[in-house]
Amino acid sequence: MEENIPYHHERSVAVAAVREAARLCRAVQAGISPDVIQKKDRSPVTVADYGSQALVCRMLAEAFPEDPVIAEEDAAALRRPENAATLEKVVGHVRAFHPAAGAEDVLAWIDHGGAQEHSARFWTLDPIDGTKGFLRGEQYAIALALIIDGEVTVAALACPNLPVEPGAVERGVVYAAIRGQGTVRVPLAGPGAMVPVHVSTLEDVTQARFCESVESGHSSHDDAARVAEVLGITAEPVRLDSQAKYAVVARGEADIYMRLPTRPGYVEKIWDHAAGMLVVTEAGGMATDVFGAPLDFSRGYRLEKNTGVIISNGRFHDRIIAALEAVGVGRTAG
Ligand code: AMP
Ligand code: MG
Repeated sequence: MEENIPYHHERSVAVAAVREAARLCRAVQAGISPDVIQKKDRSPVTVADYGSQALVCRMLAEAFPEDPVIAEEDAAALRRPENAATLEKVVGHVRAFHPAAGAEDVLAWIDHGGAQEHSARFWTLDPIDGTKGFLRGEQYAIALALIIDGEVTVAALACPNLPVEPGAVERGVVYAAIRGQGTVRVPLAGPGAMVPVHVSTLEDVTQARFCESVESGHSSHDDAARVAEVLGITAEPVRLDSQAKYAVVARGEADIYMRLPTRPGYVEKIWDHAAGMLVVTEAGGMATDVFGAPLDFSRGYRLEKNTGVIISNGRFHDRIIAALEAVGVGRTAG
């Protein structure tokens, strides 16, 4: 029985949860008009963010009532009278999946994700990672991970706009991982077989393809270009939003993901990295911060002990860290 293998049940629930949330996000995204984009109106992402969190937290609360959830959103703002119209939209989208849900149910599900403190076993959720990508109709992700004793143990990462495989026409894929058991992908539309996923086997760093944030406010493009130069990398960076970057390295489409500090003092949030990190490391890759230290998920909702994030296929990780040092990345930030 698959349910008897450690964490297979958690993985099944996590995949089901991010799938449902991704369907809600797609429904909201389908309603975004060019007008909304032009006006820089963020309301669709607000609706999808809350809706996604409500669905995932509802499912986690039902399956694992004892587990706290550290999620990005809380419902405090949504309870305010001036946001009644937004709440109504969120409830409408959630009802497409749970027709009997009322506003109080939805608010309570969102608030189920309100834990902040580290505990021995908890989930962390980014209901929409890459909000800017979501609004542009590009890449975004629903990222869910289970952390046990400070170790990311189970991950489900839904990428609704990512081609199922490099070059595929069909979009929408979920990457799932269990610590020590590898990474698989399943189609977002489900069901469908689980296909194992592996990082590239590239050894020659000069041939590496690296990815980074679209937003230069989230990761220094200038420093990444300097590091690439030191390493002799000639290919242009691949820029995409969200933890889809981790997925792209996990499946060998890129070899490196660099997230380099843009300003001193910014501390990465666990929900921006936990799921992606396990997906890539279980696919055979490596994850550290800019100094080569492992990412430390035992500190609560932030990666307090780390500066930036460096992901690779594991074949030339130390050379990247040496190049970062040569360029001076992280010396003033963090
Ligand atoms: P990305 O899509 O990779 O650009 O990352 C999106 C995430 O960047 C958001 O979920 C934010 O939590 C996070 N973020 C916001 N400000 C910063 C910053 N100054 N440095 C790094 N990450 C940030
Ligand atoms: Mg995020």
